[in-house]
Amino acid sequence: MSNPIFENVTLIGIGLIGSSLARAMKKEGLVGKITVTTRSAETLARAEELGLCDVATLDAAEAVKDADLIILCTPLSTYAAVGKQIAPALKPGAVVSDVGSVKEPVFTDLAPTLPDHVHLVPGHPLAGTEHSGPDAGFAELFQKRWTILTPAEGTDADAIEKVAELWRRMGANVETMDVKHHDQVLAITSHLPHLIAYTIVGTATDLADDLKQEVIKFSATGFRDFTRIAASDPTMWRDIFLSNKDAVLEVLGRFDEDLTELKRAIRRGDGDKLFDQFTRTRAIRRGVIDADQA
Ligand code: NAP
Repeated sequence: MSNPIFENVTLIGIGLIGSSLARAMKKEGLVGKITVTTRSAETLARAEELGLCDVATLDAAEAVKDADLIILCTPLSTYAAVGKQIAPALKPGAVVSDVGSVKEPVFTDLAPTLPDHVHLVPGHPLAGTEHSGPDAGFAELFQKRWTILTPAEGTDADAIEKVAELWRRMGANVETMDVKHHDQVLAITSHLPHLIAYTIVGTATDLADDLKQEVIKFSATGFRDFTRIAASDPTMWRDIFLSNKDAVLEVLGRFDEDLTELKRAIRRGDGDKLFDQFTRTRAIRRGVIDADQA
């Protein structure tokens, strides 16, 4: 068994991401003890049944009092409340991290609640599925996926390196990025595609009943893929769009313009324009495959 990177780790929230972390950290022997806290007694009991933790408590302050590393694995809209609950119990030198899909809320909602004696190292694994809850997680979720860390300038270098090492030992590639840049990049690579999926599936849902049945019955790969994405957790995605409003609206504006251009090409029968565009996008797909992110 390899040396633990952190002795006492507390996970706040034990859904898809929290439980995947617990499984991966245990499997790789990366931590001494895992404490879990969450909102509901049902989820906590399930986490215990699944063997995801050494200690389980509904009391968040109690859960963090001995922790060397605390990772928030709850929806973004909980950050201010969770911060207030845990702040008085955090020990000096503890590292506080998270897995949230938008990074600005860490600085606007969570950071102001925390004492100066902790190190804040925000993180975001670019890995997930459309499933939720402690049963949905698996130890291999982060393998070969990127995890982006967005610590503020001046954050303790050792704390950043220990968090980076934890992710690397769970199989992730780690990159450090400015928080604003992270939120802009994710707006185009993740948030806009989800918004498009939610829209398309919503449009199909609003079709006349007979047509709707056909859409579901003959769902070809295109629509089927969108239904998978649009099955993602509603709370999480509501929070993402509200937290990353400016960046999402900006890329949505550009998307709108490009869509108008394609509409014009179809209306005018401009096959060259369509062919050129589809050739360009096909090359991007090859790039994704070459980067081992397919
Ligand atoms: P999840 O499976 O729905 O689990 C959420 C966890 O947070 C549950 O333990 C839930 O507790 C707890 N929780 C929910 N509302 C809460 C509240 N108001 N107060 C305290 N705890 C609360 O969610 P997830 O997919 O793991 O996502 C967690 C975080 O990971 C989110 O911030 C999301 O942005 C980020 N993330 C998700 C993905 C993905 O693909 N899913 C990918 C990367 C990052 P109970 O069950 O006890 O109610």
